[in-house]
Amino acid sequence: MSTQTALFSHPDADVTPDLTAYDVILINSSGGKDSQAMLDYVAELATAADVTDRITVLHNPLGRVEWPGTSELAREQAEHYGVRYEERKREKGDLLQQIEERGMWPSAKARYCTSDQKRGPGRRLITELVAELNLPKGRQARVLYALGLRAQESRGRAKLTPLMENSATSGVREVTTWHPILHWTADQVWARIHASGVRYHEAYDQGMQRLSCSFCVLATAEDLVCAARLRPDLAAEYVALEERMGHQFKADLSMADVLAEAQRRARPTVGGGR
Ligand code: SF4
Repeated sequence: MSTQTALFSHPDADVTPDLTAYDVILINSSGGKDSQAMLDYVAELATAADVTDRITVLHNPLGRVEWPGTSELAREQAEHYGVRYEERKREKGDLLQQIEERGMWPSAKARYCTSDQKRGPGRRLITELVAELNLPKGRQARVLYALGLRAQESRGRAKLTPLMENSATSGVREVTTWHPILHWTADQVWARIHASGVRYHEAYDQGMQRLSCSFCVLATAEDLVCAARLRPDLAAEYVALEERMGHQFKADLSMADVLAEAQRRARPTVGGGR
């Protein structure tokens, strides 16, 4: 069930909120291309509105399943824009550990990975940031929570609206989810990144389309094979976990098949070729 409610009835409307109306502007960053383009865009708006000091970038480190260097890159990007950077992660262990405890892989219908590794820690940071404001009793804090989701990525995301009420709202805080780049294309994202001159993750130049977990249950087979070629040791860990749990990585694709395909592509072809 969605934890958010649409605030606007026209899903295609591009809505830019008045940033000066918020006490806290929290920007979620996976360190990936969409987060990076969003940060560049929101930082520009915040500079124009003179509220850059209200921005905090939040990254949720995912442990060894994350592409190496992602957390460092997310920090570097925040520092580039001169905004506060925070990391929060699940306290009871990383994602691979959590999956093994559950005995099943996450899936589109059971996204416990996102809720436990990202949403939960994000809420804890919201609580901390609101407490820091030290607002007078009775004055509800206004929090704008920016996420770099894009409608092009999935049917579920295509149903989102630019501004949505966030279920983290309580008596002391009103939290609004903002999707600043909801209607951007991947080309627009890359154009923004290249124009900024800020460093992006090298996995993209090595063939990956998306970042975050190296092996995401929502990734395409092509991205998974590419990731297995780049991180064969981690892929082997996933295969071993798949065998231990007796649960296939995706309903239509096993990690064993992903790794086998990556190894097949890595073998030199007979007769060479150019
Ligand atoms: S990247 Fe994929 S597997 Fe990893 S937390 Fe996000 S949805 Fe789950």
